[in-house]
Amino acid sequence: MQKDANLSIANPHPKDADVWQKLGLAIAGVGLLVLFLSWGNVPIPAAMGLTIALVGIIGGTTLYAYRLYMRQPAGIKNNGVWFKSLINRGALGWIAGIILTGFYVLLYWYPEYIGYKPNGANEGFVALFDPLSQFFKGKPASQWFLYGTLYTVSILALGIKFLFKYRHNSYQLKRTVSVIIAQLFLAYLVPEILEGLNYNGQTIDGHGIYYDADIKNVWPLDYDFFYGYHLDAMQQEAYQPVGVLYLIIGIAMFLLVTPILTYYVGKRWYCSWVCGCGGLAETAGDPFRHLSSKKLSAWKLERWLIHGVMVFVFVMTAATVYGYFWNTGEVFGLNIYNTFQKPYGFLIGATFSGVIGVGFYPMLGNRVWCRFGCPMAGYMGIIQRFKSRFRITTNGGQCISCGNCSTYCEQGIDVRAYAQKGQNIVRASCVGCGICSAVCPRGVLKLENGPEEKRHDLPPIIIGNKSVELQD
Ligand code: SF4
Ligand code: SF4
Repeated sequence: MQKDANLSIANPHPKDADVWQKLGLAIAGVGLLVLFLSWGNVPIPAAMGLTIALVGIIGGTTLYAYRLYMRQPAGIKNNGVWFKSLINRGALGWIAGIILTGFYVLLYWYPEYIGYKPNGANEGFVALFDPLSQFFKGKPASQWFLYGTLYTVSILALGIKFLFKYRHNSYQLKRTVSVIIAQLFLAYLVPEILEGLNYNGQTIDGHGIYYDADIKNVWPLDYDFFYGYHLDAMQQEAYQPVGVLYLIIGIAMFLLVTPILTYYVGKRWYCSWVCGCGGLAETAGDPFRHLSSKKLSAWKLERWLIHGVMVFVFVMTAATVYGYFWNTGEVFGLNIYNTFQKPYGFLIGATFSGVIGVGFYPMLGNRVWCRFGCPMAGYMGIIQRFKSRFRITTNGGQCISCGNCSTYCEQGIDVRAYAQKGQNIVRASCVGCGICSAVCPRGVLKLENGPEEKRHDLPPIIIGNKSVELQD
């Protein structure tokens, strides 16, 4: 077997990129360059340009990650995590944050600046995606098609990188393959193909009529599930019985499937195995997970915000359903669209989940939305906290207080405080990512499902309990 000259017992973590890593970076760089040039309206044949861009990004990232991680022993490395500019709020981190945030602002509110034209005569960045959109649905791309494609490519490319990095941990491998498959098929390919099969140019309230086949996108995360245009689309005569079936599945998902699965395995079944927001956070956001605040004040803010958004989505949806069935645009004299739907869409659907939720990865960590805003996470968190078999057990005698677990908990949970006491971790916010367990050098932490009565082995650590006073 040929030995890597850079890798030895004395130097198990080679610092310098080898020629293959450089080649991988160059290939991914060419892919990104094509995207950038298309944005500037450089005349690149769209089909060829898009192929180079997507294949380059996925292929180049895979080559780079393979060489980066497979030249090193399996297991977590902490080298330089707090010293790199990009992942420690340095200049590169700020630049990345501004670029991401700016992209979301254009996507939501100024799509014309990335080339989207409502009449189909797209230019620049969006036009690059026209051939793929034509292939799936027989119509030009929208800014959302571009976004969905890039989102899926990010989860795929950086998910592969994640698989190399955490190859020592089978839980990480399984759940990452799961989020990649869920995003690629359930959130992207199946809905796009079905839309193509059903598209007939008709619209309801300006929205195309198609099956919302993304059945993994559950209300209340999928906040417009009960909007009039959506309910109408699913009841279209021509689309039966599938349309009504999707409606029934959607309602069953939040009323039955979500509470039952959360009872048995915790909210991880969704947040860490299925959800697209969680999928992006775990893959593209992985290098930023240590930036989540562990302060008690952040925990307090988290509880107010996430439950506030939950109340908002319940009220907004109740008003929407009332307006739909009573065929009125008002409730208690308040215009339903202007008072409820529009503010929710702007503040939560776009600003919180998109601009802040992803744009602020390099500033606030990778789960800002999941921790502070997602109403689905809030809903499952209440079940997980009070009525679930899920817990993380801690073998306190083995803990050496290194703090790896707390450092890498993306939900800001001070895992070490529990480990030091040998106490089970039962927290509403834990998404069951298992990273705390994967990075523990002593095998202290184990994600388990078991009898409810044994979950609270000690008085739980909660706000107001003296046990947390030393944590801030
Ligand atoms: S406590 Fe562990 S499993 Fe839960 S969110 Fe934090 S790192 Fe993930
Ligand atoms: S539980 Fe493991 S990772 Fe956390 S402080 Fe103890 S030894 Fe370190």
